[in-house]
Amino acid sequence: MANISLRNIAKVYPGGVRAVHDFNLEIHDKEFVVFVGPSGCGKSTTLRMIAGLEEISEGDLYIDDRRVNNVEPKDRDIAMVFQNYALYPYMTVFENMSCGLRLRKVPKKEIEQKVKAAAKILGLEDYLDRKPKNLSGGQRQRVALGRAIVRDPKVFLLDEPLSNLDAKMRTQMRTEIIKLHNQLQATFIYVTHDQTEAMTMGTRIVVMKDGLIQQVDTPDNLYTYPANKFVAGFIGTPQMNFLDVTLEEEDDKLFAKIGRNRLLIHPETVKRLTVEEVNKRQFVLGVRPEDVHTGEGFAEQFGSAAIKATVNVTEKLGNETLIYCSIDGTDAEIVLRGGSRCRAEAGDQITAYVDTQHIQLFDYDTEETLLKR
Ligand code: ADP
Repeated sequence: MANISLRNIAKVYPGGVRAVHDFNLEIHDKEFVVFVGPSGCGKSTTLRMIAGLEEISEGDLYIDDRRVNNVEPKDRDIAMVFQNYALYPYMTVFENMSCGLRLRKVPKKEIEQKVKAAAKILGLEDYLDRKPKNLSGGQRQRVALGRAIVRDPKVFLLDEPLSNLDAKMRTQMRTEIIKLHNQLQATFIYVTHDQTEAMTMGTRIVVMKDGLIQQVDTPDNLYTYPANKFVAGFIGTPQMNFLDVTLEEEDDKLFAKIGRNRLLIHPETVKRLTVEEVNKRQFVLGVRPEDVHTGEGFAEQFGSAAIKATVNVTEKLGNETLIYCSIDGTDAEIVLRGGSRCRAEAGDQITAYVDTQHIQLFDYDTEETLLKR
């Protein structure tokens, strides 16, 4: 069992840098929670406060109903895995994995059992006699994970553990860590700046910016119901398109105006609006690249939300084509996802059809969403 409760946690570093503000979060037993956000937003600081490596300036930290603010790291029943694997170069894999247990005077037989069991989970059984320099980056990171696993902690804290690996190995290790979490049935807290890692690994994701939580939610909800423009832009690649629009009411219908284009807003979206007075006001309309279509086939369904645009660049990625356009008569740009056999080319005049059932609307000043779920 390991529930973790962060209550009004804040961190002020010596010199006055306030790295984390009023952080509140309940992490449930066996959850896989990911802290994600741009560099410097306070993810590592929060993780290190949970680990006990950084003093908590304000607030209370509970692990299973025990206040642990002043409990030594080694007594928190937590294991931490870092970006740099921090393996001892002169020790073998077996020695690296077992050194913590040896220090704690765990009986030799038990150490052997634990290391072998962890090596089996991690596919390291054939490497136990090797030194770290004779391992690949992925294998080294596995040893670091193994060193955490043998301690049988209630909580695993992982700080950007895959950042030093190449792209292919990162994808592979991502899957392995998900499997590991299922297998170990422990609580995982994972820090990353990579939204793809967050989306694929977390059962819940905490999006942070400037030391503040922006939203805590499941990957699906973050993608579909972003609380504000920052979250909407941070989650998803290519990033959501943001267009400055004015809204206009006419005959019980609502339109978004951008340049000479007028987009009929889908009634389901209108129903979700949390503000009453919208006529003639300026908003930010957000739409994901996959909800903007081009090609005659879409005219019937989405013809009431058409934008005239000129293609600037196309990126053929094999399974899809990203089409970057300028909206005619404006400075605005828009990206859409075309299919793998899309034939659009730079200079083409196209009509982009927006699926306005799946747009976001943000307040122009506060950048908060104006749509309820
Ligand atoms: P992240 O993990 O999201 O990249 P950090 O938690 O490492 O961010 O840092 C958050 C903020 O705290 C940054 O502005 C960083 O410069 C500052 N910071 C981190 N460690 C220290 C420190 N030891 N002393 C002073 N400021 C620090």
